[in-house]
Amino acid sequence: MIEFYKIDKLLEDYDFLDIMVVDIHGKMKHVTLPKSYVSEKTFKEGIGFDASNFGFAKVTDSDMVAIPDLLKMYLEIIEDRKIIHVLSDVINPLTGEFFNQYPRSITKETLKYIKKSNVADDAKMLVELEFHVFEKVSYKTAFTESYYFVENAEGLGEGHDYPRANASSYHLNEPYDIHFELRNNIVKVLENAGIPVKYHHHEVGIAQHEIELNFMSLVDAADNVTLAKYLIRRVASEYGLYVTFMPKPIFNMPGNGMHVHQYLEKEGKSLFVGNEIYNLSKLALNYTAGILKHSLSGALLAWSNPSTNSYKRLVPGFEAPISASFSKGSRSAAIRIPGYLSKADTRIEFRTGDATANVYFFLSAMILAGLSGIENNYDPIEMGFHSKGENNKEFPLNLKDVIIGLKEDNKYLKTFPESLINKWVDTKLKEANIIYSIPVPKEFELYFEL
Ligand code: GLN
Ligand code: MG
Ligand code: MG
Ligand code: MG
Repeated sequence: MIEFYKIDKLLEDYDFLDIMVVDIHGKMKHVTLPKSYVSEKTFKEGIGFDASNFGFAKVTDSDMVAIPDLLKMYLEIIEDRKIIHVLSDVINPLTGEFFNQYPRSITKETLKYIKKSNVADDAKMLVELEFHVFEKVSYKTAFTESYYFVENAEGLGEGHDYPRANASSYHLNEPYDIHFELRNNIVKVLENAGIPVKYHHHEVGIAQHEIELNFMSLVDAADNVTLAKYLIRRVASEYGLYVTFMPKPIFNMPGNGMHVHQYLEKEGKSLFVGNEIYNLSKLALNYTAGILKHSLSGALLAWSNPSTNSYKRLVPGFEAPISASFSKGSRSAAIRIPGYLSKADTRIEFRTGDATANVYFFLSAMILAGLSGIENNYDPIEMGFHSKGENNKEFPLNLKDVIIGLKEDNKYLKTFPESLINKWVDTKLKEANIIYSIPVPKEFELYFEL
């Protein structure tokens, strides 16, 4: 089991300082300094790095400065070696300011905006991580490009838990739950790293698993989801296994969502509990309406579901929402009010997003959409969002359309600089154009002989 521990101050004795930065997609990248190179200056002034591999370069220059966040330090022990990992912020050397497109900057600015708005002083987030575990990454080649599992389940590696597990393996128990120990080990590692976990279980699909983190303050939630995805992969790789959070790795099987339970908080008290429908407060209803309105335009989905594969998950029949609706209990509603809670724990669950999102951008955009609902006093019932299941307010359901939605509807993104929105639009349209112009295996079946 990997030894990776949260620490709250720098040790005297270590071998490497590992600087971790988050790229435009929300993936952790790193550069590693031997202790002999580290000085006080490293912590005060940061360390210059070539940011060309991190998705933002050319907007400014590719030289950036990573500055360690001393609140986010971890000790890893590998045999007799000690590595200090530190999650970092990024400074743009041209301005000397924090780089305003950097994911952590956006989330920190969003927290400041929440406070400034006087509505709340924090947004509490509980994020659920769903993923598949494969023994072998095999793929079909469709003449020019590779497709991981999109065609059917034949690509599954040998030794996966099929056929003992089947497509309704929700909460599957041992001996069929063959990755039970893997999940136990992952959760131990997450807890050592200071990441609070609610529970873990087998998910509905073949080789599909879930780990629910516990409620955290906004910035911690985004940092810890990023770190958890990295650690989950690292633990699985010790078993020779591959993890994917892809929303729809296997056609016609359950996909991977990244549900977010949430409430706004002021002075330690939830602002979402009240006497409106489902024990929600009026403020919670306004917030819900804001999220649904900006989802329906595509502008929020562009952050919460930002891949072409996202829209292969958002299809009927797999508990993944396809329309802007809220309801109690229903798992096909985009926003569910969990039915199992006491009144004091009332909160909302946004079920649309997936883990191809950059979680910093996703959580920030979602909260800003909610706040716009509060500012404008939107009523989700008047707006036709209340439903027991399906309704007719269907989301735009492909990457191109949601990006067009984002181009038109982005005024609510108060903490996102225009340069980031433009960068995101360009990056995501490029992805969409590639995928939509590549012949896929199924097309050969349908059209080859026509
Ligand atoms: N996997 C489903 C999704 O794509 C959710 C199923 C569940 O959590 N029970 O959102
Ligand atoms: Mg869950
Ligand atoms: Mg689940
Ligand atoms: Mg859920």
